[in-house]
Amino acid sequence: MFDYEPRADLLADRTILITGAGDGIGKAAAHQFARYGANVILTGRTESKLATTFDEIESHSPQRAIIHPLDLAKATEQDYKILSNAINEQYSHLDGLLHNGALLGPRSPIQSYPYQDWLDLVQVNINGAFLLTRELLPLLAQSDSGRILFTSSSVGRKGRAYWGAYSVTKFAIEGLMQVLADELENTSSIRVNSINPGGTRTKMRQQAYPAENPNTRPAPEALMPVYLYLMGEDSKNLHGKAIDAQSFDPEEC
Ligand code: NDP
Repeated sequence: MFDYEPRADLLADRTILITGAGDGIGKAAAHQFARYGANVILTGRTESKLATTFDEIESHSPQRAIIHPLDLAKATEQDYKILSNAINEQYSHLDGLLHNGALLGPRSPIQSYPYQDWLDLVQVNINGAFLLTRELLPLLAQSDSGRILFTSSSVGRKGRAYWGAYSVTKFAIEGLMQVLADELENTSSIRVNSINPGGTRTKMRQQAYPAENPNTRPAPEALMPVYLYLMGEDSKNLHGKAIDAQSFDPEEC
């Protein structure tokens, strides 16, 4: 795992939005970003889970978190505008955007992959990431060092039998990351990368591998040095990269 000791004020007063902040990796990231000084905007579909994350963050980093429910399956273009207006009013800019929330869907051969699941995964995993990015780019441009981090997967870099829409939408995420990184390369200080967490002890992993002993996988907290690095000033030279959290070495990027 990446050996990184962030400064205590690494993210001081930076404002970072996290999707899927009510569980798993997104929840761990929200905690850590707040601990290192960020204002965190917790988004997700299950309000009770967001409320729990909020209360926990309040207990160690008071007044650092706000909740903005956002169901990526249902949100309209107008909902994304409402969100960006709310951020603009409260903070006037955005420093970081962690695209983390996603659906796994069924493991099934393409020949029998259910169309409704395909549509749901496309909506949540890629359309949601596109709409959120498009709406928030003007606010990220107001930051002196904006960061956009897309969450990919091993199966978003090499196709794997029976992973269907999950794999295909993660490939699409890599494509979105590359196109955006190229667009911003010479025109902006926003840095854009993708991260593959690798097998991590969460509900999604358990759903994908029900027979696996969860303790054989790192907890989300173990990955947080990489997430902190990628949201902070130290990663200003990383752009357009497809990063693997569990073998990350900035010298090799
Ligand atoms: P979890 O299932 O623990 O968390 C997924 C999060 O996504 C939840 O907070 C969930 O919300 C949210 N989400 C799902 N649907 C929606 C929606 N419609 N709108 C908004 N949010 C939604 O999974 P992980 O923490 O493991 O996954 C985080 C990311 O990491 C995902 O992008 C996943 O693909 C990726 N990943 C994970 C790996 C692993 O081994 N864990 C490996 C490779 C990639 P709710 O809490 O309401 O259910």
